[in-house]
Formats: sequence, structure tokens, C-alpha cells
Amino acid sequence: MSEQCVFCDIVAGLSPSATVAEDDTTLAFMDINPASDGHLLVIPKRHSTDLLDIPAEDLAAVTLAAQRLAALAVSELDADGVNLLNCCGADAWQTVFHFHLHVIPRYVDKVRDRLTLPWTPTRGRRDTITELGARLNAAAN
Ligand code: AMP
Ligand code: ZN
Repeated sequence: MSEQCVFCDIVAGLSPSATVAEDDTTLAFMDINPASDGHLLVIPKRHSTDLLDIPAEDLAAVTLAAQRLAALAVSELDADGVNLLNCCGADAWQTVFHFHLHVIPRYVDKVRDRLTLPWTPTRGRRDTITELGARLNAAAN
């Protein structure tokens, strides 16, 4: 357990949460500021700060739990789609520094769906895309 971590407190039962699902490795609970109806978070019970330091087995377990809950959002809440979101780092909007995956059910009905992101797709420069891809490719292989 990490000191001063609200999600570790939830895992330990020291802070309240609306539990959705639980297994040995993961906990899923409702987000208190839902971007849409049914917005929930899946976390590893073991503390990790973010995507860059979570052990592979915890990441796998959280991702599989999120997949199962996404399917339930569709079948039980009649969601029309689902977004999975992870914020890694304060500049990427991370505010709670215990790894979590947002499972955000999406709806055609905007009364049930308040999610907007500050991203308007605009076509990038082909040479820049190619150059950055090549740099990552060189580091990845
Ligand atoms: P992020 O900005 O990706 O770090 O997301 C943190 C999320 O945790 C936000 O959507 C918050 O609404 C949510 N959150 C913070 N504290 C709690 C809490 N005690 N119970 C449930 N959700 C929380
Ligand atoms: Zn924690």
C-alpha cells in the first residue's frame, strides 16, 4: 500500500466506493465524476503509479477485467459503444497516481453521455508522421 493514495485506501476498505467487480488482482468501482452513465474504473489492488511502472501481470489482469466490464456495459446498460482510457502523467490528464483504466460506456443519447475530449482530428504532415514512426520503430526493434 502506498501512503496518501486514495485508491489504495479504497482497496483497503478505508474509503468508500461502489464496487462493481473484484478478483485477487483487480478491483472495479464506479467513478465519482462520471463522464457517462456507468463510467467505472478498474485498478490493480497492488499499487502502481502509472502505465510505465505497472507489472505486466497486473496490466493484463486489469485489461481483461475492463474488457469483461465493457461487454457488461453493452449488455446490461445498453451502451452503444465503450471507450477505454488511461491517463499516464499529469500532462496527460492523470490526477490519481495509482494506475487505472477508465471504462466509459458511450451512448448516442447525449443525456447519458457527457464525454468530450479536446481533440479535433486534423490531417498530419506525411513527412513528420513517417519520421516519428521511424524513430519509434528503431527504438522498438
Ligand atoms: P485520472 O484523471 O485519469 O487520473 O482519473 C481519476 C479519476 O478518478 C477521475 O475520473 C475521478 O473522478 C476519479 N476518482 C477520484 N477519486 C475517486 C474516488 N474516491 N472514488 C471514485 N472515483 C474517484
Ligand atoms: Zn495506490
